[in-house]
Amino acid sequence: MTKTYDIVIVGAGSAGSAIASRASEDPTRDVLLLEAGADYPDPATTPFDLINSHNNSYREHDWGLGYSPTEGRSAPLPRGKVTGGSSAVNTTIALRGIPEDFDEWDELGNGEWAWNKVLPAFKRLERDLDFPDADYHGDAGPISIRRYPERELLEHQHAFLESARSLGYPSCEDANAPDSEGAGPHPMNKLGRMRVSCAIGYLAPARARPNLTIEPSTFVRRLIIEGDRCTGVEVERDNGTIELVRGHCVVLSAGAIMSPAILKRSGIGPKRELEQFGIDLIRDATGVGDNLCDHPALAVSCVAKDASIIDADQPLIQTILRYTAAGSDKRNDLQIELLSFGPNRRGRATFAIAAVLEYTFGRGFLRLASADPHVAPIIENRFCEDDRDARRLASCFRDTLAFTKAPPLDGMIEELAFPNLKRGIDDETMLKLCKGRSSSGYHPCGTARMGPKEDPQSVVNEYGQLHTLENVLVADASIMPSVPRANTNLTSIMIGEKIGEWLRTSPTIYGL
Ligand SMILES: Cc1cc2nc3c(=O)[nH]c(=O)nc-3n(C[C@H](O)[C@H](O)[C@H](O)COP(=O)(O)OP(=O)(O)OC[C@H]3O[C@@H](n4cnc5c(N)ncnc54)[C@H](O)[C@@H]3O)c2cc1C
Repeated sequence: MTKTYDIVIVGAGSAGSAIASRASEDPTRDVLLLEAGADYPDPATTPFDLINSHNNSYREHDWGLGYSPTEGRSAPLPRGKVTGGSSAVNTTIALRGIPEDFDEWDELGNGEWAWNKVLPAFKRLERDLDFPDADYHGDAGPISIRRYPERELLEHQHAFLESARSLGYPSCEDANAPDSEGAGPHPMNKLGRMRVSCAIGYLAPARARPNLTIEPSTFVRRLIIEGDRCTGVEVERDNGTIELVRGHCVVLSAGAIMSPAILKRSGIGPKRELEQFGIDLIRDATGVGDNLCDHPALAVSCVAKDASIIDADQPLIQTILRYTAAGSDKRNDLQIELLSFGPNRRGRATFAIAAVLEYTFGRGFLRLASADPHVAPIIENRFCEDDRDARRLASCFRDTLAFTKAPPLDGMIEELAFPNLKRGIDDETMLKLCKGRSSSGYHPCGTARMGPKEDPQSVVNEYGQLHTLENVLVADASIMPSVPRANTNLTSIMIGEKIGEWLRTSPTIYGL
């Protein structure tokens, strides 16, 4: 007889690791965590690209996906394939969304996700080393967070903050304060050079528990649905063997690209699309794969006057400006960040200043390209097709250009490698650049969004349960109804914290 686990979690990423850790705190629950990528149980022998938080890891532990940011263009879309998921390869920016983001989720019918309901989970997940006593911070969670003090800032990162001041932006010491706005150090989940991924923060302390099993190198092909219940998942091991793994409750935490793809391959998705690939329809769920949100971004590339300040062995990012577009009623809908190093342009050393749209109206989508689980889905973001997005990103890009003329940063720039200012900086040119050149902030989410059952486009309820199968949950960045006005890692972990806690303290919700 094969064993039946209480909880089978698919994907050991930001959310999945938190869920595995919280759910297995109950020693009577048998929890299985399945991960397609590798696992490195010992931080001392973990590969350098996963430890090194000064830059992203793009290749060694990546899914090799591609996406289309705007119509007709294609680019790689990095996603972590390893225990820790994208938290193990990312830039370690540990920024929370603002209260209005979560109150908006509440207004869409998800009362459990209002700001006052998510704040305890944000506090629980962190150990804020700079503001441990603030009533909105935690001081004992698995993810350590700190900010670079002024003395540790690189010269051009320091200059960025000075230029922000000279341009009249307020200073902000804690970007995670609920009312934060302005320029200051980024909260980051790194200690020295070490990335505090969810593999390190959550799995390392939990993996000794006898009731938690972690199976890496195990690719989940689809859910097994028998009658009205999901009884487990079909997995493929690294040697090509295909097996069934049984569970009373299955949690999809494979991320905003793979979770909807697994649902579709399992027969849960838009009827027409499934028919096109000959997949037996289990449930017609039109919202699966729609509502793809992300943060479109466009960077000014600056050739450094003094090439010696550019060093790819130093932190990629240290500072942030959060602010609101002129005339906008969406607070902090824009971000500007300085990236310490960029690609060499004709042998010349560059850094970049990125304009990022944080509140978006436009949405993209994800479609299957094949029923074959090894064929990646088609991902189309459709950035800036909504004029409200294009205009605010264009205004942000113009504000970003102002940094290149503001002291002291202006004195560090030889010339701009992009954009070509000879083409003008009038509104039409700016809009064209944003519509043609913006690309992903690597924050895809929203592709299996939560909402009330009456909302035909929502896929799960506010507890993460599929509307149509109560023992299947989606619990990762897919369920966000909209992208928060912040990089998405902390919010994904917060989702894992909340759903993990419900699995532990209110198992009857999930039929356990
Ligand atoms: C390069 C990069 C830089 C980023 N920088 C930042 C940053 O600085 N700050 C920030 O806040 N956010 C950042 N992000 C985004 C952030 O990391 C993600 O939003 C977050 O990690 C998403 O969490 P998740 O749990 O939804 O998915 P993931 O963390 O991606 O986890 C999904 C997991 O599921 C596994 N999986 C997928 N399919 C299968 C399958 N079929 N079978 C088994 N396992 C499967 C994957 O291998 C992965 O481990 C970055 C992302 C990337 C890629």
